[in-house]
Amino acid sequence: MYSDDTIAAISTPPGRGGIGVVRVSGPGSLEIAGAIFKPQSGAHPGEPNRAQFGRIIDPTTAEVIDEAVVTYFKTPHSYTGEDVVEISCHGSPIILGRVLQVAIDRGARIAEPGEFTFRAFFNKRIDLAQAQAVRDVINAQTDYQARVATKQLEGELSKRLTPLKDALIEVIVHLESSVEFVEEDISPEAVSTLLAKLDRVIDELEAIAGSFSFGKYLKEGFDLAIVGRPNVGKSSIFNRLIGRDRAIVTELPGTTRDALYETTSINGVPVRLIDTAGIRETVDVVESIGITRSRTAIADADISLLILDASELLTEDDISLMNHVSRERRIIVLNKIDLPQMLSLESLSLDGGDVISISALTGEGFRSVTERIFTRLAGDAAAERDGLMLTDARQHAAVRKAIEKLCDARDLMSRRELEEIVLLRFRAALTVLGEITGETLTEDILSQIFSTFCIGK
Ligand code: GDP
Repeated sequence: MYSDDTIAAISTPPGRGGIGVVRVSGPGSLEIAGAIFKPQSGAHPGEPNRAQFGRIIDPTTAEVIDEAVVTYFKTPHSYTGEDVVEISCHGSPIILGRVLQVAIDRGARIAEPGEFTFRAFFNKRIDLAQAQAVRDVINAQTDYQARVATKQLEGELSKRLTPLKDALIEVIVHLESSVEFVEEDISPEAVSTLLAKLDRVIDELEAIAGSFSFGKYLKEGFDLAIVGRPNVGKSSIFNRLIGRDRAIVTELPGTTRDALYETTSINGVPVRLIDTAGIRETVDVVESIGITRSRTAIADADISLLILDASELLTEDDISLMNHVSRERRIIVLNKIDLPQMLSLESLSLDGGDVISISALTGEGFRSVTERIFTRLAGDAAAERDGLMLTDARQHAAVRKAIEKLCDARDLMSRRELEEIVLLRFRAALTVLGEITGETLTEDILSQIFSTFCIGK
């Protein structure tokens, strides 16, 4: 996958801006800069880490393309570990395209998606978990996502994994030496020391894997359906959650005939919000299509907010809906508490922990809705909000696989099975852990990961 030619790309987003950057990396970078850049000072652009002002020219016509600030980073002290030249010029797609073209004319090749970061990984400037974090930092849509990704970019995951891998290597060395010197059978005391060490590694891996239950929502977002019979206040709650009037709110039941979708975030976790058509028994054809869709939305949602109208008695429709949505996946919201109350918690046979009372009209109690949603998603991870969090499915699968192999190894070891058999499990666990940081990976997986990057990253 790695070729040692010189690559170039526009590294700033498409569109117009104050400045735009063309990045060049590889052994030919400095020569290209020398041909297309004329520093105003007359100096050679080859002084590392120094931003120089000057002009980018087309060397074949000597025409000035733009004014630019050019910085040269000498290998290995650059993002990619290679010679890198960054050209900052005016942020016009036309200008940037021409600057890129003259770099290509002088021998650079257009970079593949993620190729700069791939080179950084290949040259061991960063590990694979960090490379993925580069993508996550860039793609972050909320402050919370960006903070978690930045932690991973600083190598937090690798730091947590390194002592665990070291502990496994120690166990492997111990077992290997007893395989080599058959007469030195491992004593029962030594076995129990190894088992205790192994237990600590497994516990730590379990903690890391456990963070994914929330981490996956943080990265990918979650689906939240707002459900209830017509007129209980679903659209009002939907609008409050997204912070503006999107859904039509009327006194006429059955106004929201089809589901409405919006993306927003709750405490920094992205959420796809679905305002469903009110669910009730109806003969109206259009309305009943909407209701069928609502039922599908409920089935697909990670959490459903089940809305009841506190100013009215419970109806058949309410009861059937409560039976339809499982307890683990619903949060019951008693709306319209600003009006005279007809529904009480006792009459619902639910306790306060299950129900949140609010008024979508006045906003009273509304904050508890978002808090409850967040704690439902985060579970124990809520306490660890700023700790390390696994957000990547591939990394999670690797940690789980390692745990599985190590549990296997533990059982075999406590049954005093042959060291060779136990060793196989240990080595397999070490290999899958290496896949997270990228020491042990096939080319297929690597290209799959880097193909999710954009050009210029
Ligand atoms: P939906 O059919 O479930 O989407 O309900 P809407 O959001 O359209 O609301 C139906 C009616 O109830 C509208 O007239 C709203 O203004 C009113 N409403 C919604 N929430 C409240 C509330 O908390 N208190 C009061 N008093 N009225 C509300």
